[in-house]
Amino acid sequence: MAGSTICNNNNHKNKLKDKVAIVTGGASGIGEATVRLFADNGIRMIVISDIQDQLGQQVANSIGLHRCNYIHCDVTDEEQVKALVESTVRDHGQLDIMFSNAGIISSSDQTVLDLDLSAFDRVFAVNVRGMAACVKQAARAMVEGGVKGSIVCAGSVAASLGGKRRTDYHMSKHAVLGLVRSASVQLGSYGIRVNCVSPYGVATPATCKLYDIGMEDVEKLYEQHMSLKGDVLRARHVADAVLFLACSESELITGHDLVVDGGYKLSN
Ligand code: NAD
Repeated sequence: MAGSTICNNNNHKNKLKDKVAIVTGGASGIGEATVRLFADNGIRMIVISDIQDQLGQQVANSIGLHRCNYIHCDVTDEEQVKALVESTVRDHGQLDIMFSNAGIISSSDQTVLDLDLSAFDRVFAVNVRGMAACVKQAARAMVEGGVKGSIVCAGSVAASLGGKRRTDYHMSKHAVLGLVRSASVQLGSYGIRVNCVSPYGVATPATCKLYDIGMEDVEKLYEQHMSLKGDVLRARHVADAVLFLACSESELITGHDLVVDGGYKLSN
């Protein structure tokens, strides 16, 4: 057929029809791109949670409050995570999808020789403890509601590589993989899937701040290490992978680490 392609996202716009989702860290970067892609795919309701209230509210307003709302939730506080999930179920009837995405990148270049354990605690509080609280509370709501839901966690290529620096960040993302694998085994009997999306470097507010440079310069920095040439890795590529794991196209995939890296891992 003239002009057809094997996969054109515009041909499948209703992948999340009737679904209710939460995206943590949805005010910015990969989370925001995922919120927008979910909204484009016919989602019934998407709840953005974050600690950047103004930004989160702006994203929700731009999508439309009939389909998207913003709730403040610091994932390091399990009570806030519980309240987020409970209010979502109370107001929208169910929880089908949790994208546990909130995370921070350690700002210091420490090796294990000069590991700053206070910074380590902060990274672990968000990336590991916060991630576990989100998976736990989402899974409880899905089990109680009899929902065969999908939980997707933000991993990283750092989850399966040793790092020359940022030891705490690498350790935290390894822990995310352990969580995803264990939870997928434990929740399988309820029909709940748990997977991980692991990006290589993407230009987002977090990585721009890390290197103190603009989006294009961050993209150039990462692009040179990818074996796949001709495009740069963007937040929307990661969002595509999250959408795939969230929707029924991946109905028999669980406990999987979907790496989105333009070939970085194999070539480095
Ligand atoms: P980002 O900073 O643009 O977005 C992260 C969001 O999480 C922010 O809006 C932030 O306010 C929120 N957040 C931070 N701490 C929080 C907390 N305690 N409670 C609730 N929300 C909190 O970063 P990003 O680059 O989009 O990263 C998103 C996820 O992707 C993170 O888990 C990160 O580790 C992972 N990741 C990013 C990259 C990359 O290169 N950007 C690569 C691999 C993995």
